[in-house]
Amino acid sequence: MQYVSTRGTAPALAFDEVLLSGLARDGGLYVPAAWPGLSRSELRRLQGADYRVLAKRVLTPFLGGSSALPVLDELLATAYGSFGHGAVTPLVQLAPNLWLLELFHGPTLAFKDVALQLLGQLFERVLGQRGERVTIVGATSGDTGSAAIEAVRDRAAVDIFMLHPRGRTSEVQRRQMTTVMSPNVTNIAVEGSFDDCQDLVKALFNDLAFRDELRLSAVNSINWARILAQAVYYCAAGLALGAPDREVAFVVPTGNFGNVYAGYVAKQLGLPVGRLVVASNRNDILARFFASGTMRMGGVEPSLSPSMDIQVSSNFERLLFDLMDRDGAAVARMMQDFRATGRFTLDPVRHARALALFDAGRLDDAGTLEEMRRVKRETGLTIDPHTAVGVAVAREKAARLGQPTVVLATAHPAKFPDAVQQATGERPALPPRLADLYQRPERMESLANEAEALKRLIRARVAGKNA
Ligand SMILES: *Cc1c(COP(=O)(O)O)cnc(C)c1O
Repeated sequence: MQYVSTRGTAPALAFDEVLLSGLARDGGLYVPAAWPGLSRSELRRLQGADYRVLAKRVLTPFLGGSSALPVLDELLATAYGSFGHGAVTPLVQLAPNLWLLELFHGPTLAFKDVALQLLGQLFERVLGQRGERVTIVGATSGDTGSAAIEAVRDRAAVDIFMLHPRGRTSEVQRRQMTTVMSPNVTNIAVEGSFDDCQDLVKALFNDLAFRDELRLSAVNSINWARILAQAVYYCAAGLALGAPDREVAFVVPTGNFGNVYAGYVAKQLGLPVGRLVVASNRNDILARFFASGTMRMGGVEPSLSPSMDIQVSSNFERLLFDLMDRDGAAVARMMQDFRATGRFTLDPVRHARALALFDAGRLDDAGTLEEMRRVKRETGLTIDPHTAVGVAVAREKAARLGQPTVVLATAHPAKFPDAVQQATGERPALPPRLADLYQRPERMESLANEAEALKRLIRARVAGKNA
């Protein structure tokens, strides 16, 4: 399997290279050169399969030529052995025709563990086979950071530098990152927003000399392997609810468009996916885009669902590539326009094509609290604020969707105790393995929003450690 860049000029690469490099050298994102398929009879055979068996079947064609392929069984067993539920991503019914897909049973209590626990295994295997090491640099609005750190901590072949916007993550999120004392982990609090952090990471990747010198690698949701790992749970949920004979719609609390794009991947594979519904908080650039056809950047406003406080959804470029009939030059032009003017517009034909696949809704903070209360009252379940945005949008769209609908529950409520307490009056307890989180010491660096300062810090750290 070969992968091509959404901007059309970077060389096509095999899976292992795509895994290790993240962003393509022309600034684009890697996508498969062609979509493999799962036939109806194969889907039928996979009904009721163990999560790991399903994952192996979904992943295998994408890993063609990878040194991880011969040991994929072991990697999957280790990755998902760290989960607190035997089904890995269990479904829970919320109402007639409405289910929650619980994606938060991993070590850091957010859906990002599902992909990153596997990514950690893939990195270790592929780097070990090559005798190489990498420097991972990532930006997080909260959950990516801890999940990435948890996936690579103490690994000999990896250094990780994780940027977060100072004061814009919840205390639990920050502590899950800053209390990890492993020598290969550096947390950096940046004076700025999540988008500023993401821009800093992009600036480092676009400095090709620096990128090569440190063998930079990304594990944020621009990494193709993460998207791929996430496509598995769409298949698991679809099969549990009747695929291939019944279509299922998904509602996805969305920030960077990675998770919902994984649903699009599952659909390309042949899973009967109905509408994919983007659920946004007040930072609703995507909802406005789907309504108007114009992507227009705005400011980032803090909300009760901080992991969705994003105005530039990097993974949208992957969908755009397909909407533009895989014309990389056209995508490159649109992304340049977007950078320069803060907007781009899809022509009506392509906008209609996007609307045939996706729908979108939004919910403000007051609605989020109300939805958390309502779910608690009606079902007894405590849900986190991100999931609440999804559930409210699903209810709003239920009549229009008219089919079994799965809301992706992206975080455990204990990750956002203040919002849960505000909504329900009860403070959710941390699971036992994190019970002493508030007593653990923290360690982090502080940095201005400045790429050169960041490069200096990374160089000094990596050189010092390997001296
Ligand atoms: C990361 C995250 C999101 C957004 O996911 P994207 O893939 O960036 O769209 C939503 N909810 C939670 C809890 C998250 O951690």
